[in-house]
Amino acid sequence: MRKWTLPGLAAALSLLAAAPSAWPAWAFSASPDLIRAHMAYLASDELQGRDAGLPGYDLAAAYAAKQFQDMGLKPGGDNGTFLQHLTLIRDRALPGGTLKIVGPKGTVDLVEGPDFRNSATAHGRDVTLNAPAVFAGFGVVAAGQGRDDFKGLNVRGKIVVVLDGSPDAIPAADRNFVASAGAKAMMAKRLGAVGLIVIAQPAPPPPPGRGPAQAVAAGAAPPAAGRTPAAPPTPPNPNAPGRAGAFGWTWELPGGDANHPGVPVLATVTPAGAAKLFAGTSQTYEALLAASKSPAANPARFNLPGRIEAVAKGELGERRPSENVIAMIEGSDPNVKSQYIVMSGHLDHLGVSARPLPNGDAINNGALDNAGGVSTLIEAARGFATGPRPRRSVIFLLVTGEEKGLIGSSYFTNNPVVPKASIVADVNLDMPVMTYDFVDVAAIGAEHSNIIQAVNRAAGRMNIGISPDPVPRLGIFTRSDHYNFVLQGIPAVFLIGGFKNGGEVAFNDFYDNRYHKPGDDLNQAIDYNVAAKWAHLNYEIAWELANQPKRPMWNKNNLFGSRYAAPSTVLR
Ligand SMILES: [Zn+2]
Repeated sequence: MRKWTLPGLAAALSLLAAAPSAWPAWAFSASPDLIRAHMAYLASDELQGRDAGLPGYDLAAAYAAKQFQDMGLKPGGDNGTFLQHLTLIRDRALPGGTLKIVGPKGTVDLVEGPDFRNSATAHGRDVTLNAPAVFAGFGVVAAGQGRDDFKGLNVRGKIVVVLDGSPDAIPAADRNFVASAGAKAMMAKRLGAVGLIVIAQPAPPPPPGRGPAQAVAAGAAPPAAGRTPAAPPTPPNPNAPGRAGAFGWTWELPGGDANHPGVPVLATVTPAGAAKLFAGTSQTYEALLAASKSPAANPARFNLPGRIEAVAKGELGERRPSENVIAMIEGSDPNVKSQYIVMSGHLDHLGVSARPLPNGDAINNGALDNAGGVSTLIEAARGFATGPRPRRSVIFLLVTGEEKGLIGSSYFTNNPVVPKASIVADVNLDMPVMTYDFVDVAAIGAEHSNIIQAVNRAAGRMNIGISPDPVPRLGIFTRSDHYNFVLQGIPAVFLIGGFKNGGEVAFNDFYDNRYHKPGDDLNQAIDYNVAAKWAHLNYEIAWELANQPKRPMWNKNNLFGSRYAAPSTVLR
């Protein structure tokens, strides 16, 4: 197949004088062979699926660091190295907590089981709180819809009590961001609250001819997928105490605690427990629930009487030291070189499966996910290292623990190696499906900011079209590392291949048959010319962002910009 060349070269050069950001007269030629060599090592069986915190991952990190070093890039990690060390740690919530309302007329106990369950959301070790409480409706803040359930409430130092879910008026696409317990816990923390209690929605009526529906499922850990043998279902006892939540990974704080971005989610309260919480107010749980279902979906919000005394049980689990890999190139323009564009990609994958496939293969090589993104990022870094220097500085970041819950990027964005306010954009590379010659891409996340203009310029030069997200059902925006940049107020873009020119078949074939399976290996029909085109396109986007006259800005009234970003970085 032909080597990737630049069809738009002459046209782009003729525009140079008028163009606001001078495109270099530098036809970066991304190398299919170099990408092939990177992938051959990173996706080899020797690296045992690059499980974060295990030796195969460390080999991958050492390899990537060596590539950056050989290019002459500056180390961006700890103590003049390319590695930023962190510790991955697991934790989970446990049953056995207590919940009391301490009022002027005495103490009301909520009983574990009938009145509350432990949260499924982990919060590190045991949490003990004694604080006044405030009911904040759904606890939803959705700037685009002009909705702020915290408006006019003082939640500082308080435990926030919210209804599970979101009003029907919130568009489905926004619900992930505003309706999860984690999103509400984060907003509560930003506003100075100390804890969160979620009131479960009443269990739906049982379907005809079946046993009772599982009540208050929100408080219980979901059953382990695929592990339940086909036994006759036992109707769950709605009064049974909670069970231990699933272990999840996060990163360890300096004192040994597990990091969580929001306030602790203390408990999930049942309708019976909610009746106790609202006793002594002018409201009832039934009335609030009915108001939450009305078209306005705007139940009263108010301080609850007395104080809540809560003990939420939790435990820490396994710890694993690991590392992000960080390299930098310094910008050439003294006025803007203190601003940084990050190119990110996750270096880890799933490791070795407990159960091999019938063919005996158990190693999740993660060739496309994400040896492909890493190898094309390394190649894009070579473009910067060997070509003209960009005006802004660029950070090349390979993160650990993405597959465990975006952990390495959470660590980096909370512990950035340059001032957080100086990071002005993230270009993330994850799981490019490089088995067909893409002619269009979807620029996931770019529509929230004017980054989309940089993407348009870069893709336009390469005659690549921009299409809408072809798989909105997958909620990709929250599923890779760029999302942690967004949560820190940094606009981001994450390309996925478009569905034209065979993309739909290629994507679905990969996603249905090899995604997160041992079959995502080097036996796939990877087209390294396409890989070079992928590297080149991401290089061009990062180049645009690094050279455009003004730093990228969030769109006016954008959900994320309004919620997480400094006002000076949001368009008015
Ligand atoms: Zn993955």
